[in-house]
Amino acid sequence: MIKKLVHLGFINIGTDRLEHVEATKVQTTNLVTVVTCVVALLYALYFLLSLNQTAVAAINLAFVVCYGFGLLFSHKRYYRGAKVWFFTVLMAHVYLFSVHTFGVGAGFHFYYLIITPGVFLLFNENDRVEKFVFSLAGGILFYVCSEAADTAPIISLDAQSERLLFYSVIYVTMIETYFIMALLSHNIDLYQKELKAIAATDALTGINNRRMFMMIGEELFENAKRYEHPLSLLLLDIDYFKKINDVYGHLVGDEALKQVAATLKANLRASDSLARYGGEEFVVVLPETDITSALAVAENLRHAVSKIQIELPEEAPLTFTVSIGAAEKTADTPCLMGLLTCADNALYRAKETGRNRVINHGQVKEEGLAFS
Ligand code: GH3
Ligand code: MG
Ligand code: MG
Repeated sequence: MIKKLVHLGFINIGTDRLEHVEATKVQTTNLVTVVTCVVALLYALYFLLSLNQTAVAAINLAFVVCYGFGLLFSHKRYYRGAKVWFFTVLMAHVYLFSVHTFGVGAGFHFYYLIITPGVFLLFNENDRVEKFVFSLAGGILFYVCSEAADTAPIISLDAQSERLLFYSVIYVTMIETYFIMALLSHNIDLYQKELKAIAATDALTGINNRRMFMMIGEELFENAKRYEHPLSLLLLDIDYFKKINDVYGHLVGDEALKQVAATLKANLRASDSLARYGGEEFVVVLPETDITSALAVAENLRHAVSKIQIELPEEAPLTFTVSIGAAEKTADTPCLMGLLTCADNALYRAKETGRNRVINHGQVKEEGLAFS
């Protein structure tokens, strides 16, 4: 439901270019303003049709217009102004109807009790003065209205109408709380998902970062170990990457990293797990893959990267290569880090023997060249 409200648009008035918390506060202000307008409109209809009080209904309509100005303030980006305006109009409205129009028995002054939670919900952390002043004013006005029981109201209600209005105060409060809570939990959910994605993603390339790789990799490794399924790992490192940065600048280096990430992603299965492991190093976990297939995948990736061309102004396109270390999980591999160490040894060997090649850790081990 709250999604539908968000799509309606009015909630988002003035929120573009705002960061999350501020946007939520403005959205909540807009939502409360609109709900209050609707409620005031319904009251006006009730005053007109049921109580036959045209003048009171007209005054209430004037308040609807006043509340509506709050949306204009939001639209003009006077966010604080919109909030101060809303609470000021609300307090005046409640005071007028509570003491002078219907009397305390109608219970309108109970609306003052939602002022304090309201200001904390709508105002920002550092709007301390506004929060304090409105809370204090709400408390004082609640007392003043409660003690004004002897003041003769303009309209004396019969017991049934008075009870009806009293109930309306309680239920309107509950309905507003419902909408606000729905909006808040919707936004918290949204921002949590966004934060999770940010924490898992490498900002430059858009693929998983090392942290996410460790989480996914550990799980894939443990599953493969438990069910004795094959699993392989590739560690890729761009050759002479420092030179690319030094000769063509960091922006070209960044572009190369982005294109490598995109190329690797395009050449892997959805079940393979790709991540940026470090500066110009990438890692791939290949579940259900023995070393023979992993080496074929690695050769394919190496070939695909060698085809990348970075356009340069007034120069031939830049091309480069990668070296790849491959390792398969064996009965002796204790954990994901162990497998990574094996792939790293193979990668070291690939660099040592000329770069732009794939080396299998098993082969390095046979030659007795591995560190572990
Ligand atoms: P090798 O063939 O032995 O791997 O040589 P290399 O020059 O690729 O290796 P080295 O580890 O010396 O250089 C890696 C460079 O990657 C150094 C660092 O400045 C650069 N680098 C790391 N992260 C980024 C990045 O996000 N953007 C750019 N443009 N460069 C980066
Ligand atoms: Mg490196
Ligand atoms: Mg390198």
